[in-house]
Amino acid sequence: MIKTDVLIIGAGPTGLFCVHQLGIIGLKCEVVDNLDKIGGQCIELYPDKPIYDIPAIPESTGEELTNNLIKQIKPFKTNFHLNERVEEVKKEKNNWSVKTNKGKEFNVASIIIAGGVGSFEPRKFSVKECQKFEEKEIFYSIKDKNIFRNKTVSIFGGGDSALDWAIELSENSKVHLIHRRDEFRGAQSSVEKLNELSKKNKIQIFTKYQLSSIDGDKNIQSINIKHDDGAIKKVQTNYVLGFFGLIMQLGPIANWGLNLDKKHIPVNTENFETKQKGIFAIGDICTYPGKLKLILSGFHEGALAARGCFKYVRPDEKLRFEFTTTSKNVQSRLGIKKND
Ligand SMILES: Cc1cc2nc3c(=O)[nH]c(=O)nc-3n(C[C@H](O)[C@H](O)[C@H](O)COP(=O)(O)OP(=O)(O)OC[C@H]3O[C@@H](n4cnc5c(N)ncnc54)[C@H](O)[C@@H]3O)c2cc1C
Repeated sequence: MIKTDVLIIGAGPTGLFCVHQLGIIGLKCEVVDNLDKIGGQCIELYPDKPIYDIPAIPESTGEELTNNLIKQIKPFKTNFHLNERVEEVKKEKNNWSVKTNKGKEFNVASIIIAGGVGSFEPRKFSVKECQKFEEKEIFYSIKDKNIFRNKTVSIFGGGDSALDWAIELSENSKVHLIHRRDEFRGAQSSVEKLNELSKKNKIQIFTKYQLSSIDGDKNIQSINIKHDDGAIKKVQTNYVLGFFGLIMQLGPIANWGLNLDKKHIPVNTENFETKQKGIFAIGDICTYPGKLKLILSGFHEGALAARGCFKYVRPDEKLRFEFTTTSKNVQSRLGIKKND
């Protein structure tokens, strides 16, 4: 059980700046995100695209913005729990109990939901047997590539992730790359490398094939792949990897009693609190009259929600308004040493 002041659900730009706003008023927080990396839509959907409407930053890519937000919250040494989806939120006396799909439990005075358009989930194989092998021999992301060493790996997909992993794993594994189309969508340089490795028999490519079924009870023995013309081919394999991109799913947020309005959480505009006392919602996930789905709005909402949490974390204290330029308290929280 992790006990802290506030739990932030979502490590997109809004959740990240909110860590800062909580930190400067002296509140601690932890952050959970279902993705394997920090940055939300900016890092998952447009890391290389420039953004032109962040105040005082004329141009910044999604990745640069994320890196700067991470740098700005460094003084607070915040724990991030990645690859975990928040499943359950329950009132427990004066606090909230929050559980993730990996069984982690938090006890907090307040929750800030910065969940964007929901959690990013990998698009999965439609073949039913796949479920029982998931996270054992079938994966949709790679945490430890060493498990594939000297094994046979069948990689499905035609985009950059499938190509990059096929090329990388071919160094130490036998690799099959299976794609439902004739052409690959990945970078031209990767496609060229792939063809070169295929000529050297380092990677075996199957195009116009899709997964049809799996042989094996406790472990995968082989897979059957089906060609567009109906022909079935048996392929011996130890592991199966699927890289079909991500889908966004509102998921469990819908079950937390927050009166959703068209998949968004209604909040007040005073402090972005939801109808549940102590639960706040900011960024793309919240709705109120005039809401703009922009990063800059999420920053403002996070600043007010952080202050809204204060009364739940420290009910006997009054929060004093302070500027970062002049407050010794804030500057010491930011680890700034001044000789004046
Ligand atoms: C192509 C594109 C271009 C854009 N350009 C601009 C622009 O120029 N300017 C601008 O201001 N905005 C732009 N946007 C919009 C901007 O990216 C969003 O407004 C912003 O990302 C919202 O931030 P957020 O933190 O609220 O949510 P997100 O960035 O969506 O992050 C939410 C995070 O919450 C996680 N999450 C959700 N539910 C759970 C759960 N139950 N458990 C764990 N984690 C969960 C998700 O995995 C996700 O990482 C653009 C968007 C796109 C797609």
